[in-house]
Amino acid sequence: MDCIFCKIISGEIPTKILKETSDSISFLDAFPLSKGHVLVIPKKHHQKIQDMNEKENSDLFSLVHTMISKVDSITGSTLLAVHNGKDAGQEVPHVHVHLVPRSKDDSAGAIHSMFDDSFKLSDSEIDELYTKLKI
Ligand code: 5GP
Ligand code: ZN
Repeated sequence: MDCIFCKIISGEIPTKILKETSDSISFLDAFPLSKGHVLVIPKKHHQKIQDMNEKENSDLFSLVHTMISKVDSITGSTLLAVHNGKDAGQEVPHVHVHLVPRSKDDSAGAIHSMFDDSFKLSDSEIDELYTKLKI
């Protein structure tokens, strides 16, 4: 499969691996958005979070939990992000969690700044969504 992250896992692409667990690895992003930008990925190729099984999912987020205290020590504030699908901004179609150290003078804002703040839902749309998403 022609997947950059699968090539990192197989060792074909040299990478600064920070920690490996049974089902996941963490490594430095090659094109960091800030100093200390780290990625955490499952070893098995899945495009989306919901494609992983429960063990892979808990191993991945357990490694995020392990890495976050390290990464967060860089600035004291960290953005955690998953682009879960192409239209959400995913360029590499292999699940990955971004851990991006933030600081008050960086150029990025909160996720709210990514969206038009005029977006509103009607009460009936909220009810419809509630019915659709409630488990
Ligand atoms: P996406 O936009 O899909 O959420 O993020 C993909 C991330 O993978 C980007 O932050 C990009 O810098 C990183 N990346 C792409 N190619 C490589 C690579 O070959 N090695 C490493 N370490 N990171 C990469
Ligand atoms: Zn892959």
